[in-house]
Amino acid sequence: MAMKAIVKCSRTDGDVKVLDVAEPAIGPDQVLLDVKAASVCGSDIHMWRDHQSWAIKLPLILGHEFCGVVAQVGERVSGFRVGERVACETAASVCGECVYCLSGNYNLCPHRLGYGALANGAFTRQVVARPQILHRIPANVPFEHAALTEPICVAYNALVEKTAIKPGELVVIQGPGPIGIMALQIARLRGAGTLVVLGTDADKHRMEVAEELGAHHIVNIQHEDPLKLIQSLGDGYGADLVVDCTGVSRALRQSLELVRPNGRITKIGWGPQPLDFSLDPLVAKAVTLQGSFSHTFPTWERALGLLSTGQINLGPVIGGVYTLDDWREAFSRMEEGANVKSVLVNQE
Ligand SMILES: [Zn+2]
Ligand SMILES: [Zn+2]
Repeated sequence: MAMKAIVKCSRTDGDVKVLDVAEPAIGPDQVLLDVKAASVCGSDIHMWRDHQSWAIKLPLILGHEFCGVVAQVGERVSGFRVGERVACETAASVCGECVYCLSGNYNLCPHRLGYGALANGAFTRQVVARPQILHRIPANVPFEHAALTEPICVAYNALVEKTAIKPGELVVIQGPGPIGIMALQIARLRGAGTLVVLGTDADKHRMEVAEELGAHHIVNIQHEDPLKLIQSLGDGYGADLVVDCTGVSRALRQSLELVRPNGRITKIGWGPQPLDFSLDPLVAKAVTLQGSFSHTFPTWERALGLLSTGQINLGPVIGGVYTLDDWREAFSRMEEGANVKSVLVNQE
């Protein structure tokens, strides 16, 4: 049987189509999932436009933030039953043998193939998964929310696993995209004292959402100098922590300006542009620069716990729910900044 899928066909800008593809078959150690909801990521938009520089397979079924129901279980799989509601991590396959896999840091496995990038993704009806990356969805969390576990985990990994935050600290978040909005919520849960979110003209709606979700100050950097505001807060020496969620390399320059001596910068956003400025402030201010990539098993369980207890608010984040056929509207609304997140669902 064939199934409908949103496929990136070539490197050409916009070359994404709804196509019929073959249903996947599972091996004895795998699980087949019926996808119930999949959220659109900024990287899906980039792949649609092909602004991105990272490697992908072609043709490629897009989508890596998803959840569903177990449809079939391989004969050697125990621990999951048909019909269970599960959220699925993004590491479709890893080698299982390298030092990162063996130490539980499989997000950094050099052989990792991520869904919707190097392995076929979830903007379709069925996906093959290994049971090691499945997480039961708490009964009170709807599929549309569980699909957003992944970006919550990205922020959680960066701001809990990789970065220390003390209650009361001044935290600046650059970029109010989906990851920035999740980082804001995780930083608040970590006890950040004052939260400042920086954006641009294109972020009008996203900045309103940031404010609704607890940002104490929002600054449009095209019209206002954030340094002035930061120097007016607390002791005036700058931010304890700057979190880069922009994907623009030059944001690091601003981070270095806003961070206080002995402060930290955590970089989640990434982009291929080279830097054209001096990193001397990093040295002169004795700043700690931390990168963060993806996430691992325990983070997923904790993120689902936060969703289940209502400590992460996705209400204003999800701008619309669309069928696969309406993918173009779902993508466009995010590209325009009208939706922080769009979610795709399969019609029953
Ligand atoms: Zn994503
Ligand atoms: Zn490995």
